[in-house]
Amino acid sequence: MYGLSAADEDVQARARALADELIPFEVQAELSGGLPDDVAAAHKKRAIELGVFATNLPRELGGGGCSTLQQVLVQEQVGRVTNALGWVAATPPSWFPPVATDDQLARYLLPTVRGEREECYAITEEGAGSDVDAIEATARRDGDGWVLNGVKWHVTSFNTADYCFFQAKKTGDAGGGEHLLFLVDLPSPGVSVVRTPAYSHTISHQHPVVAFTDVRVPAANLVGAEGDGMRYSREWFRFERLMVAARCAGAAERLVAEMSAFASSRVAGGAPIAAHGLVAGMLADSVTELFAARSLLYETARAIDRDPSDTRTAHAQCSMAKLYCSEMAGRVADRAVQVFGGRGYMRENVAERFFRELRVERIWEGTSEIQRMIIARQLTSRGVAALA
Ligand SMILES: Cc1cc2nc3c(=O)[nH]c(=O)nc-3n(C[C@H](O)[C@H](O)[C@H](O)COP(=O)(O)OP(=O)(O)OC[C@H]3O[C@@H](n4cnc5c(N)ncnc54)[C@H](O)[C@@H]3O)c2cc1C
Repeated sequence: MYGLSAADEDVQARARALADELIPFEVQAELSGGLPDDVAAAHKKRAIELGVFATNLPRELGGGGCSTLQQVLVQEQVGRVTNALGWVAATPPSWFPPVATDDQLARYLLPTVRGEREECYAITEEGAGSDVDAIEATARRDGDGWVLNGVKWHVTSFNTADYCFFQAKKTGDAGGGEHLLFLVDLPSPGVSVVRTPAYSHTISHQHPVVAFTDVRVPAANLVGAEGDGMRYSREWFRFERLMVAARCAGAAERLVAEMSAFASSRVAGGAPIAAHGLVAGMLADSVTELFAARSLLYETARAIDRDPSDTRTAHAQCSMAKLYCSEMAGRVADRAVQVFGGRGYMRENVAERFFRELRVERIWEGTSEIQRMIIARQLTSRGVAALA
């Protein structure tokens, strides 16, 4: 199905094997707020062994060198697992190699690709989420380094990361207001957690509010050129939106499989509930939307593999994939809870966990509204044939 090559099917099977090994740990992770460190470390090791870690980085840097379609196939499989256990199939920043200095490669990227270091992103602020341009964090040149200040929100994986990408605006007369991106080691003097709020999902990765107060970094920690900060964020968004779409498709596949199995065996009113038209309709709608989402997802990935230079079209189509797949997965999770009945409201049930966990897929990496704005802007300026 889907015209996958033997190599595509091979990497997909390895990712599926990892996901199948992780699924039995979901309930323990749910009830304990994560897994013991040694178990989580073993899962990461397994992802590396199976060759599904850093699939988005070139082979010469130690990554998997996978096509965009293959990266999607991997993230789709690990998306079948709840509680973010599938995040062990990590995707380090693939936008970074072309702009990283040798020193940055050695200190940050290469150890990340080897699974020895982990990054996080400190971009969003209390007053700047969708509108990244509104950030108030500052970077001031001082001698042979920079001094960073700002308070960042929702810094995912701050509790496990070894360094972060910190986005700020330059202060001063020359180039004031330009966006700059920095590498900040964690911990560093001046970096402190303000608070760690609880979120709907119960994954082990926290999203604290983090204060950066007079944090000094050497000039060597500036990423790329001054003023390029937003360009890298956009490249990352494009990639990550497609991967969000892939994980949502995987989640929907799991939910469709589990709810249809349950509906076939659960008897009510003298018949399996799948035989009741109202339940059958929920199953049929869910698998139909999954097929539509997956077709859109794979075609978006294939288009990038055919012509990686057409980043404009990719930007809109990745938004379309994220928008459709995340909203589809949310609808499927809602139906799955309904099909499971009271069981679907129990935290030990996959539908209950995905019902909560999938909600954020419509918010992070750009909300559904922002995706619609991107798509509509290109549609009205380039016409329908450019996008669909
Ligand atoms: C669990 C979680 C993890 C996160 N991890 C990270 C992270 O690691 N690093 C990081 O930097 N950020 C992270 N974020 C932040 C995330 O990217 C933002 O929450 C998201 O971009 C939305 O920004 P906001 O929350 O400020 O909402 P707002 O931008 O205030 O939006 C509020 C509402 O207004 C709508 N809206 C805003 N602008 C427009 C517009 N122009 N047109 C139409 N509607 C609009 C939005 O769609 C939304 O419905 C995370 C968020 C969450 C919830």
